Amino acid sequence: MSSFFIEFRDPLFSIIIFFVIIFMITFFSYWWSRYKRIEDSRYLDRFLKQFNTLPSQGELNILISKGELSEKSWLLLAHSYSKNGDFEKSIEIYNEMLNVGSYENKKETMFLLGKTYFKAGFLERSKQIFLEILKVNPRTPQALSYLLLVYEYMRDYKAALDVLEPLDELNKDISLDTTYLKLMNILHNLNTTPEEKTIEIVAVYKESHQLAYLVYEYLFRVNPEFAWKSFDSSKSEVIVDILWNLELKDLNLDIISNNGFLRELYSAKGYINLAQSSAVFEFDVLIKLKNRANATLNFEYVCDNCKQVYPFSFNRCSSCHFIDTSRVEWSLTKDYHKDFSEENNSFQ
Ligand SMILES: [Zn+2]
Repeated sequence: MSSFFIEFRDPLFSIIIFFVIIFMITFFSYWWSRYKRIEDSRYLDRFLKQFNTLPSQGELNILISKGELSEKSWLLLAHSYSKNGDFEKSIEIYNEMLNVGSYENKKETMFLLGKTYFKAGFLERSKQIFLEILKVNPRTPQALSYLLLVYEYMRDYKAALDVLEPLDELNKDISLDTTYLKLMNILHNLNTTPEEKTIEIVAVYKESHQLAYLVYEYLFRVNPEFAWKSFDSSKSEVIVDILWNLELKDLNLDIISNNGFLRELYSAKGYINLAQSSAVFEFDVLIKLKNRANATLNFEYVCDNCKQVYPFSFNRCSSCHFIDTSRVEWSLTKDYHKDFSEENNSFQ
């Protein structure tokens, strides 16, 4: 029986002990490295999580009042939140900064807060902020310009027109804004008929010769016959998409046949056959195709000021807020409408 047990002094015992120690060291070393790897990964997760969760209002209050970060850093942080579309956090930061009594750049921060409220669509709050700035500093053109925008977005065109007076006193050019707001006021007047509106906007246009797109878009939509009667041929290219989309029955062939651009445009459209070629590449291709291909024109709108491209027309750029900077650009495209109507006809 004793032959099954190893003697304490037996060299085999030492060898077994040696291997047991090696095994234990290897096991613990493996276990320790595994544990460290998991811990490191958890730490990284916890570290990254800090950047995904935003500080609460209470935390913000403590952080700002402690003054550990400079005003400029907070402004930069609020600006970056606003730029990324997180208006709520940006507004919270501005509000907390304004709550700190000893804050220096109060007017500037209030302006940024008003601007962020405007961007976020809180028009009433934005209006209150700009009015508050103007109560203390009436000669602040930036606040006046934004107040005008707020009134315009609220469709209070009369109030917006009133803001132009102090802007004029500050030597700002208000002629385009005046025409624009006058036209918008006419078009959104609930007490006038479309006929009265057409007469009024043509009267404003004849005085200024500005905002042709806004005027003719309404005229051709409501009363094409009247639109042709008051047509300004020098603006044909500006309103090319409106003219292109007119129906054949709404054309005034007398005016079209006397205008080279319109002759080429409607020959390209296939309504008439009064031009054999055109200096405009897209028109020339369409004239030569003579409706043999499923092609038409596609329009997009570029802001001449900020170069933003839109798929729809605009009178005031929603990016830079400039008025009448839209430039229409056209290109050849497949006529899906024609495709669709042909498909429908084939089922009849
Ligand atoms: Zn723009």
